[in-house]
Amino acid sequence: MSELPTTGREWHLVARPHGWPKPEDFALREAPVPEVGEGQILVRNSCFSVDPYMRGRMNDVKSYVPPFELDRPMEGGAVGEVLASRAPEISVGDHVLHGLGWREYAVLDAKRAAKIDTSRAPASAYLGALGMPGLTAYAGLLEVASFKEGDAVFVSGAAGAVGSQVGQIAKLKGASRVIGSAGSDEKVRVLVEEYGFDAAFNYKNGPVAEQLKKAAPDGIDVYFDNVGGDHLEAAISSLNVHGRVAVCGMISQYNATEPTPAPRNIALVIGKRLRIQGLLVSDHSHLQPKFIEEGSAWVQSGALKYRETKVSGIEKGVDAFLGMLRGENTGKMIVSLTD
Ligand code: NAP
Repeated sequence: MSELPTTGREWHLVARPHGWPKPEDFALREAPVPEVGEGQILVRNSCFSVDPYMRGRMNDVKSYVPPFELDRPMEGGAVGEVLASRAPEISVGDHVLHGLGWREYAVLDAKRAAKIDTSRAPASAYLGALGMPGLTAYAGLLEVASFKEGDAVFVSGAAGAVGSQVGQIAKLKGASRVIGSAGSDEKVRVLVEEYGFDAAFNYKNGPVAEQLKKAAPDGIDVYFDNVGGDHLEAAISSLNVHGRVAVCGMISQYNATEPTPAPRNIALVIGKRLRIQGLLVSDHSHLQPKFIEEGSAWVQSGALKYRETKVSGIEKGVDAFLGMLRGENTGKMIVSLTD
């Protein structure tokens, strides 16, 4: 056991951000690697995930996940190789997915880790297309938005980890038309040329409502909301009678310091008999086996494409997180500790 690491670096939150987080709100610190207890494993993280929901965990407010503690390591999805194990179900050399990201080494109970099959897809895919964002897309579209063949679907944040999967899964399941919005002309090109969206627009090029009407002249049946604000208002205008909205995220508001306006056309919900429903991926874990089965077959056959934006080095963790909030990622933003 002498070759096992005794210390490792980890990111701590040291101040609660007000509005946009600043680099000074975080510190990269060296800490001892805990002893591996009975039933525990030691993992060398190869990649960790930076996700929009982490911004909410930086606030000291009651939510569906507890806030990050100050001066403690932050948490989040990570994948890595097991260096030591005192649990019969996981062996040294296995690759696992777990929740102790933002650090080089993690010691945790084996029952809080899931083995991943790196012969089906690279380990990092289990943080994106075959991980939490992929399941969010799958469950949000199929279960929450009650997608059915022939629906016209609009998704915002369409070039991101969740959005890019929503649009492609909708096409694979027989959508009549898929429209996406994203924040750059290059992302719009990727949506249409690589992911097979029928239409896409850059929301920074003009009012969302006008651009959406042009892209969906016959209206939409499903809106998968990752953004909120003007995108939700535009979608309400374009939704057909009995349309459905899965509210997955509202990233346009996460760094707001004042309450943001609600859609001004909300009364249209009545006449159009719209259903607007929030979604939390954790409510849909029963779909995980079906999603992994179907999703990995799609990924292996090339029917479901995914991109990753990889930032190398633990010291770039906060830059990656802030970059993701600014839209510097296409597909899943990943911090790689081995590349
Ligand atoms: P992501 O889309 O890969 O990355 C975030 C993207 O948001 C950025 O790349 C940026 O792309 C876009 N963005 C940032 N500010 C924006 C703004 N003001 N207006 C429009 N777009 C903006 O992240 P993700 O992990 O896939 O998450 C997408 C959404 O799903 C987030 O709202 C997240 O909170 C939500 N989510 C919810 C659940 C759940 O269980 N409810 C689970 C996972 C994710 P552009 O260049 O296009 O602006």
